[in-house]
Amino acid sequence: MEVVTGKAAFPGIAIGKVAWYSRGRYQKDKRTAKDVLQEKRILRQNVREVLDYLNRAALSTIPEVEKTIRQQAEILQGEYYLPAVLEVIEQQKVTASYAVQITRDEMMTTFKELSDPAIKRRIQDIREISSMLLGSLAQSGSSLDFGEEPVILVSDMLYPSDIIEMKKEKILSLVTRQGSEISHAAIMAKTMDVPALFDVPGTRDWEGHYAIVDGYTGNLYLDPSNELIHEYELRQSEDKKEREELLKLRTAEDVTLSGQRIGLYANIGSMDDMNSALYYGAEGIGLLRSEFQYLNRADYPKEDELYLEYRRVAQGMKGKICVIRTADLGADKQSDYMQIPEEMNPIMGNRGIRLSLDRKNMFKAQLKAIYRASAFGNLAVLFPMITSLEEMDQIDKILKEVKDGLRKKRVPFRDIPIGIMVETPAAVLIADELARRVDFLSIGTNDLTQYTLAMDRQNPSLKRKYDDHHPAVLAMIRMTVEAGHRHNCKVYICGEIAADTALTETFLRLGVDALSVVPACILPVRRQVRKTAL
Ligand code: PEP
Ligand code: MG
Repeated sequence: MEVVTGKAAFPGIAIGKVAWYSRGRYQKDKRTAKDVLQEKRILRQNVREVLDYLNRAALSTIPEVEKTIRQQAEILQGEYYLPAVLEVIEQQKVTASYAVQITRDEMMTTFKELSDPAIKRRIQDIREISSMLLGSLAQSGSSLDFGEEPVILVSDMLYPSDIIEMKKEKILSLVTRQGSEISHAAIMAKTMDVPALFDVPGTRDWEGHYAIVDGYTGNLYLDPSNELIHEYELRQSEDKKEREELLKLRTAEDVTLSGQRIGLYANIGSMDDMNSALYYGAEGIGLLRSEFQYLNRADYPKEDELYLEYRRVAQGMKGKICVIRTADLGADKQSDYMQIPEEMNPIMGNRGIRLSLDRKNMFKAQLKAIYRASAFGNLAVLFPMITSLEEMDQIDKILKEVKDGLRKKRVPFRDIPIGIMVETPAAVLIADELARRVDFLSIGTNDLTQYTLAMDRQNPSLKRKYDDHHPAVLAMIRMTVEAGHRHNCKVYICGEIAADTALTETFLRLGVDALSVVPACILPVRRQVRKTAL
């Protein structure tokens, strides 16, 4: 038996077989078809799904867009697109997704030479249906396959785009050599509700070995003895009992022993996590990280696609609020199609609102989708990485254009609350001015800590120095709460620190209005709130 100790990023116990994940290997595997007939079946199934989606979208849009959608559906059912993709699968023995990419690229190259505007329009349609098909395939047949049984996934490093492709039910635990507790990959692991460790020196040789992951101590036992397995099985069942005990708090109020109330909301990364938020009794969704919808695809999502997703969450939350953060892309969250020029220092680079304001079409499409969906529930919009009032001026201008446009077309929408992420020291220092212009402030302590301490939140060599309880960080939170309250703005924390029960009392004393945490942390924080006396 070998024991290695890493850093525990999320609690829990996992017992099972190790699968070694290497990005390169799986990307290659993803191209080669193991079973050509199966790939063809997967393709046809996904074509049906995209057609269903197009038909639904056509019913809920304006006539001009409806016409385009119908044309796209025709191409998808027509005699040249689908047969061409099927032929590539057959001839080149590749997966459905890879065949879609090859067909799309070939058709675009052929059509590009022609100047006929009708053909140009077709190129656009082919790009769009290919990207919808790739999106659909990414969610179904082509997700990463680690075999029948769920596994403990060990890797060097995980990116958000890797985790998106994993099926939650196939993962017992995530273990990485690099990364940090507040990297985006770790946040996604927490949302999966599985124990996660990082800083574990795992290797490819571990593949297929049995292991135990202890997400409380950070220990990983490779080839454990039967005795240890037995001991951990008992702990696992105690863990289960404790979780069941916590579940009794699902409908309890978030009130301290001295009667002070605090809101408890959920952070989610995909619409599917909405159900966990409701299950654990969140008051609403305090942070929907919408950028994940933009990853692992061939092109930007279209307004209609976003709209349908936001409408689903607006309706699904049944009157509870959902705060949609506009895409915080750039840095560690980007895809090839975005063509973000390489940066010397991406963390300080063109990310969040900066990128959105540079790419107005992308930004407007997202805002239109959010406002259209607002008619179906209780939504709010949140802007990431704000550092200046000029950015607010630009946002206001774009919001006005979006709303005027919708009014003109008589599309119903609500004037929903708008908020900003306070996650840079600049935003804290001008919080008074910012608070005058918005309805709420959401403190993003993950970024706020890294920018306040000037320490990259993902740099493993800084992990002993990186201190999110640093007095400077707590002072930043206090300043933001005070500034917000001076202008009747609600202030809440949505960084990972919000789930740190060692700080719950501090946050209550600072007068923070709400905390937004990954769904699985709602109940532990609720229990802490309920036993605090101020
Ligand atoms: C934060 O920075 O605290 C935050 C919530 O945003 P993200 O972790 O997505 O950068
Ligand atoms: Mg952030």
